[in-house]
Amino acid sequence: MGRHFLHQNHIRGHCRHDFIPTQRIYPYRPHIRATGRIINHGGRAQTYNKMTMTDIKTLAAGDTDLDRPIIISGPCSAETPEQTLDTAKRLARAGIKIFRAGIWKPRTKPGGFEGIGVPALQWMQHVKETTGMLTAVEVATRSHVEAALSHNIDILWIGARTTGNPFAMQEIADTIRDMDAPETPVLVKNPMNPDLELWIGALERLYNAGVKRLGAIHRGFSVYGTSLYRNRPQWRIPLELRRRYPDLPIICDPSHMGGKRELIASLSQQALDMGFDGLIIESHCNPDCAWSDKDQQVTPEALSAILDHLAYRDTPVQNESLLMLRQQIDQLDNELLDILSKRMSISREIGKYKKDHMMPVVQPGRYGDIVSTRVKTGTDMGMGEDFLRSVLSAIHEESVRQQIELIDGEDGAE
Ligand code: PEP
Ligand code: MN
Repeated sequence: MGRHFLHQNHIRGHCRHDFIPTQRIYPYRPHIRATGRIINHGGRAQTYNKMTMTDIKTLAAGDTDLDRPIIISGPCSAETPEQTLDTAKRLARAGIKIFRAGIWKPRTKPGGFEGIGVPALQWMQHVKETTGMLTAVEVATRSHVEAALSHNIDILWIGARTTGNPFAMQEIADTIRDMDAPETPVLVKNPMNPDLELWIGALERLYNAGVKRLGAIHRGFSVYGTSLYRNRPQWRIPLELRRRYPDLPIICDPSHMGGKRELIASLSQQALDMGFDGLIIESHCNPDCAWSDKDQQVTPEALSAILDHLAYRDTPVQNESLLMLRQQIDQLDNELLDILSKRMSISREIGKYKKDHMMPVVQPGRYGDIVSTRVKTGTDMGMGEDFLRSVLSAIHEESVRQQIELIDGEDGAE
């Protein structure tokens, strides 16, 4: 696996450190603990607790005291021992304490680089021994969890494609419990689709398996077609998660959200401004040659510059419900304005079309249709008819004004 990548990229890459693998694999001992209410789940006894998340513990693994905000960095994928160690050493020099690397890569389509697998876990162990950093990998199956924990990986994260799969989440939770490893910190990325309940459900499965060092990672939500972001932020969703579980740390992943390295700084700043607890940012010793996600990775030195320029506001912990709700309102208002401006630009296109085709500017019946369909939809959604009529009329007025402006003094309407 991956041999041709090795030749293609790393011969001309900058990763040239020697690597001496060390192997220390501990056997895993299944040990099932069952406390609390037992329910039958797929033939398997399982504990169930309502997730209050008031007993969430610090994410720090072992004795390591983590800075706030928590910063996690490392390559999208561990590719070679040299690339892994070089990136890690440079990150350690930049003061990063947690090193991430994908070992098993969930790719959209087959045929791409799907990760090195178990051998790369030894590279992670070597990183730990050499730099003292904590290590984090993504897990999606029972065998991933077993291998990662047997190799002393400190932190596990759940990828967006796995969070949305309750079977996989239950399997991961069961494995952590079977391995008697509830102290393992686990970070759960949001699912691909904007479904807060699914995200919470994944966290609950881990929590019910005894995992209390839990955190969430907001990496944005999948969009169809092109957009500024690879994954839309939809900030109100993590803010609602924060409102419901104020003690649960939430970390932002601006790399997968933006999909471009130029967007990392601004997304990171927005996340910090909204009171996020940390950032997970992809970095690579030679980003342009990365085997996965090359457009969104930065060098460890560039990461350091980004972190130096962020404003870390010394605000009180923002966990009051009112504040959380207001942040959601601010976010929704921004989205409303964005949608309105998109609507206006389409309206101007219509004005241009009418002008070019010498069409009559007023289309009888069109405005009436708009009002009656929208009022019906809006009232079904619980809004008042008068309110809907005045909003629609204001939008229409502005739309007409813009069309008139466009056709330079001639009449225009939708
Ligand atoms: C990753 O962190 O490299 C990754 C695959 O992320 P996501 O699950 O957010 O797509
Ligand atoms: Mn990635």
